[in-house]
Amino acid sequence: LSMNQSRIQELAELDKKYFLHPTTAPKTHAEEGPKIMFSEGKGIFVNDMNGDSYIDGVSMLWNVNLGHGQLELAETAKEQMSKLAYSSSFIGYSNEPAVRLAEKLVSLAPGDLNSVFYTSGGSEANDTAFKLARFYWELKGKPQKRKFIALEDAYHGVTIAAQTATSIPNFHTFSNSGISDVFHAKPHLTNCELGDKSDPNYEGCIRDIIEKEGADTIAGIIMEPIQGSGGVHIPPDGYLQAVRELCDELGILFIADEVITGFGRTGLMFGVENWDVVPDLLCFAKGVTSGYAQLGGVLIRQHIRDTIVQYEGVLSHGFTYSGHATACAVALKNIEIIERDNIVVNAKMMEQELKKGFEYLKSKHPMVTKTRAIGLLSAIELYENSDTNKPFDISVKATAQVGEECFKRKLMIRPIRVGEGKNIIAIAPPLVINKQEIEQMISIIDESITAFEKILT
Ligand code: PLP
Repeated sequence: LSMNQSRIQELAELDKKYFLHPTTAPKTHAEEGPKIMFSEGKGIFVNDMNGDSYIDGVSMLWNVNLGHGQLELAETAKEQMSKLAYSSSFIGYSNEPAVRLAEKLVSLAPGDLNSVFYTSGGSEANDTAFKLARFYWELKGKPQKRKFIALEDAYHGVTIAAQTATSIPNFHTFSNSGISDVFHAKPHLTNCELGDKSDPNYEGCIRDIIEKEGADTIAGIIMEPIQGSGGVHIPPDGYLQAVRELCDELGILFIADEVITGFGRTGLMFGVENWDVVPDLLCFAKGVTSGYAQLGGVLIRQHIRDTIVQYEGVLSHGFTYSGHATACAVALKNIEIIERDNIVVNAKMMEQELKKGFEYLKSKHPMVTKTRAIGLLSAIELYENSDTNKPFDISVKATAQVGEECFKRKLMIRPIRVGEGKNIIAIAPPLVINKQEIEQMISIIDESITAFEKILT
């Protein structure tokens, strides 16, 4: 064995023994060890310890927006860490990167989203938004407004309130620890939300749930502008506006979970901008630092801030790493690079290249039935028969198998396991991807589907 090989083997043994992995089957992992051990990356590529190079087709967890090996971010982290890695922001303490980033985020955010509360990630951001919403209603003299509505197929994270808002069943099988008072509505029903009771889907839509529970008990509605982990579901035009109108009409806060969609992913800086909607609270994480540091937060509209700053007690909420100096410095640099290098525009342009690739895949493979892309957030849906929209039998793990074939060919994509018999593959590469790299990705998907077709016959 080479030195490198024995090192990889040693790490695999240690991993099996000591590292309990998130969202991983523990029994299989304890037996088989890590699937891949990453060591370095550049742009859309990551290498494993064997030196094999993979295309990172989902930006890891949809977060590495600027791609791997971005040395300016590394340099920024080094500089900030060398001066002041971290300071508390409790009891009025502050630091320059946290303040500068707050100003920058506010300048980028739509409408009057005019201040920020920092967290270390997306789940914490959503839990914070829930607590801010309830706190706001308490201050408004309406403490009974405590319930939340989320959408079916939503993913909002795994802390206890976020887990409850998440509706993907897999995330409830682990210690279903949720809070009460969260309801799940059928997604993306514009007419229902606009009040059309004759719509056959009316029962179980947001408006129906509000009528049944009473608007005076509902604190907020949370949704991803475009659902990510649930299968990349893009709402129809008019839907988010309808929800915004509904919230205004009934006095309910609109919470947008932009953890995936923020910072250029959809071809605009924020996902809600695709429909010109301003939420009351906007949760972000992931792309704010392109994964180079752990940071999330909630952007807050002026009317909520105005209410909160009237409060004379202590806002007793916050994380040790709220306003982390290094994380905030990295985020600022990340945003500076996104703007300087026209990354958001690139995401929009590459959407067209992706769509061309998808049309090719559709024309060549009968199973490629539905495709969708908004910026570089995209998905392919596989069906047994695209003419009749006949899904695969549930015994056929089409998305998992195509995912495996892609992996063998050194492309990482994300098989989505939501919905019985549904076979969705999510594709969301780093926003720095170019035309030729998209073609490379499409050609691997093409070969992988061909390989799967051979397995089927
Ligand atoms: N919200 C959305 C839409 C997400 O996709 C995620 C993570 O995938 C989260 C929240 C949770 O973020 P985190 O894993 O940083 O807690």
